Amino acid sequence: MAKKRAGSRKQAGPAETPLHRMCGTMAAHMMLLERFPSFRDNQMRLEGATDKKRQAADDLARVKVVTINTVVHVVANTDEQDISQAQINSQIAALNKDFRATNPDRAKTPAPWKGLVTDSRIQFKLVKVNRIRTAKASFSHDDGVKKGASGGVAPFQPRTHLNIWVCPLGGGLLGYAQFPGGPINTDGVVINYRAFGTTGTAQAPFDKGRTTTHEVGHFLNLRHIWGDTPDCSGSDLVADTPNCAGPNFGTPAFPVVTCNNGPNGDMFVNYMDYTDDAGMFMFTTQQVLRMRTTLEIMRRGLI
Ligand SMILES: [Zn+2]
Repeated sequence: MAKKRAGSRKQAGPAETPLHRMCGTMAAHMMLLERFPSFRDNQMRLEGATDKKRQAADDLARVKVVTINTVVHVVANTDEQDISQAQINSQIAALNKDFRATNPDRAKTPAPWKGLVTDSRIQFKLVKVNRIRTAKASFSHDDGVKKGASGGVAPFQPRTHLNIWVCPLGGGLLGYAQFPGGPINTDGVVINYRAFGTTGTAQAPFDKGRTTTHEVGHFLNLRHIWGDTPDCSGSDLVADTPNCAGPNFGTPAFPVVTCNNGPNGDMFVNYMDYTDDAGMFMFTTQQVLRMRTTLEIMRRGLI
């Protein structure tokens, strides 16, 4: 998924902040698709429903505001990783701003895309914090953090709650998510404690809560905007995000043109790219339609 930058970037250890964004969602997804054939069927069913919805062109400005009950599991190997309530609250606040498009930095959206910035009318309410001590020094995208037997903890009522595990993640991962339609006992998102919330252990450039915004985007069926191929052939199945070649890192200057997508180029300010937290601040209308369809079709229990 993440293309290695040539030369200068160091490999981050488990407790260090990765130097650029890397998300384990597609790797985790490929593993689950092999083990659970019904996952692929569910994804196809949801894609069909999303297509219909797109044709019906619902007015997204009038859909109901929905609130997702959210559980945070803090899985700590050290005292530092046992993050504060204030840090958890800061993440929920950031999620609500980003999903309701009340984040002040949306004003930085380049002019051609300003009209696409869309309020999902989805919000999040913290209903439970579960603190666990683990002997594991770090976890990977293999869902170990979601099972007691592997040093983690099982999700809490995942049909009706968004479960977020906050833990040390190795391999330079900031987080990963499970797409809708997968096995219920691993459903939710996992976030590196270095990239969670806006205070405490959150470290620049991943200290504005956007890793969780990105992963909850996957949880609600959004793909990376470059379509997860190393060329122009991949698609994120969303029409209003320009086709682009690969992930963007850091905080690029507008425009970045790839795949003949000029003059405006890649939508690197989208939450589903790999830019730094300070460089991403919008979901588009069609992305919101995908997320709302997911809530109506495959994640009904959440609302
Ligand atoms: Zn991702």
